[in-house]
Amino acid sequence: MPYEPVMMIEGPYRDFSPLETPLLGLLCQASGVSTKARVVSEAAKDNPVFHFGSRRMHPAIAPMIGRSAYIGGCDGVAVSETARQLGLEPVGTIPHALILILEDSTTATGMFEEIFGAEVNTVALVDTFGDEKFEALENADLIEGLNAVRLDTPSSRRGSMLEIAKEVRWELDLHGFTNVDIFISGGLDEESIPELNEVADAYGVGTAISNAPVVDFSLDIVEIEGEPASKRGKKSGAKQLYICNNCDSRLVRKFGETELKCPRCEGKAEPIMKKVIENGKKLKGYPEAKKIRNYSISQPFIQES
Ligand SMILES: [Zn+2]
Repeated sequence: MPYEPVMMIEGPYRDFSPLETPLLGLLCQASGVSTKARVVSEAAKDNPVFHFGSRRMHPAIAPMIGRSAYIGGCDGVAVSETARQLGLEPVGTIPHALILILEDSTTATGMFEEIFGAEVNTVALVDTFGDEKFEALENADLIEGLNAVRLDTPSSRRGSMLEIAKEVRWELDLHGFTNVDIFISGGLDEESIPELNEVADAYGVGTAISNAPVVDFSLDIVEIEGEPASKRGKKSGAKQLYICNNCDSRLVRKFGETELKCPRCEGKAEPIMKKVIENGKKLKGYPEAKKIRNYSISQPFIQES
């Protein structure tokens, strides 16, 4: 939340001043992506959201973007190197390219199922040459073990993605393919996802997450030799964030208390910032991305108005 401290650095200014720009760059962009991933995942409710946005970013930062998306709430990532770094299996579907090369959607899906079907879910892309409804039915008819169809209809061909998906769902159900899920992608965000939840089973989200607005953290001097000192517009003195164990109230207080009584419910409010580096040495290892994600998604979702 605004004005909460997230990091404290203590030491000779000359030692850490060269790190101001890279530290802020890391925090601001990664937090922006993680925050957006949470917002989009909340919009999708129980449906998984996969991060498909690496092709919108420079490859040098793709693993950082993917990791941030994952720890913010995405259920998986498409880029294999990012997945490897996170200890995950990459997630994706057949590309339109395979269908174009093989000249037919069912041929591509069939070959994929034959080669990879035992290891991974088979998801048919059903918008390459024909109508989504007919391609979905053809694939479901011919490919035993089809797990899902993916709708990635270009915006120039869409009326309403919701109506297209509802029609596909109806036809699949009517023909007995109730177990074939619907995966939707293509320009999705937290605005467009909620109405699709009634029919979608999973989403691929790209630009909305990878191009998320940054979170504007700033790094400021707030004490010099233990005495409060700060520029105008900033509160002086080292601060700590406390969160109540009982009611999740968030309190910013002077640094140094070990625990605090929550003014709202009298519960125990614990300090959140912990020392992780001392004299240049890590005090403990980094937690795995999965552990960070579990912590992050267990936090209450607070949407700023
Ligand atoms: Zn409380």
